[in-house]
Amino acid sequence: MAQRRSFPLLEPEAYELVSRYGLPLPRYAFARDSQEACKAASEIGFPVVLKVVSPDIVHKSDVGGVRVGLNSACEVASAFDSMKLIGRTQKASIHGALVVEQAGQGVEVIIGGFRDEEFGPVVMFGSGGILVEITKDVTFGLAPVTRDEALRMILDTAAGSILKGVRGMAPADIEAAVQAIISASSLMAEEADVQEVDLNPVVIFESGCMVLDARILRTSISGALGPSDI
Ligand code: ADP
Ligand code: MG
Repeated sequence: MAQRRSFPLLEPEAYELVSRYGLPLPRYAFARDSQEACKAASEIGFPVVLKVVSPDIVHKSDVGGVRVGLNSACEVASAFDSMKLIGRTQKASIHGALVVEQAGQGVEVIIGGFRDEEFGPVVMFGSGGILVEITKDVTFGLAPVTRDEALRMILDTAAGSILKGVRGMAPADIEAAVQAIISASSLMAEEADVQEVDLNPVVIFESGCMVLDARILRTSISGALGPSDI
């Protein structure tokens, strides 16, 4: 019997898929060398974030693969060079780097999805960042969710209380978070070969939101293969 295998999409491919479902992303460009990275940065506008693109690296910041607050072409070029070095130290194949608009302050949440053997596609919401593994502040809904279900998921979590505003902090855009959960749930419901979605963080602003990191596992890769090594 043929084995079903899951493949992680490269981050630029994952970005494309989530944006098809209406999830807002920062402006970004894929760069294969430092010159392309600098050109993209000046088009996007400083400061930018640089992220390593490699099929072998899952947690980019653990290996120095995310550099935030790059303020000049010079800083972008040297950050790009350090991404190439990661390939050597981690024995990872490096396709290049994403140059990404740097997002402002907001509340970081996680929106995810997976396929349950019994219940089918499921969408998840909770507190974002690395703390999610410790706080386990998450709720689940059967995909696709309605607006009311998405709102209930948010209000069931501590992340929801933070979004409502704590200690003089302005409240965040809960409606934007609702729409993001609905979009992620539609993606899970409609893309039958997507096994898992992990959007962590999604940052919720006073107005609007942005997906800052997208990891997607798919059973088959449709279309062209990702870019090759640099
Ligand atoms: P990974 O989870 O693979 O380590 P991320 O893409 O989530 O990498 O980046 C790590 C952290 O860097 C994020 O949790 C976020 O706090 C910050 N970050 C990532 N992208 C941006 C961005 N475009 N603007 C501002 N901060 C960012
Ligand atoms: Mg992340």
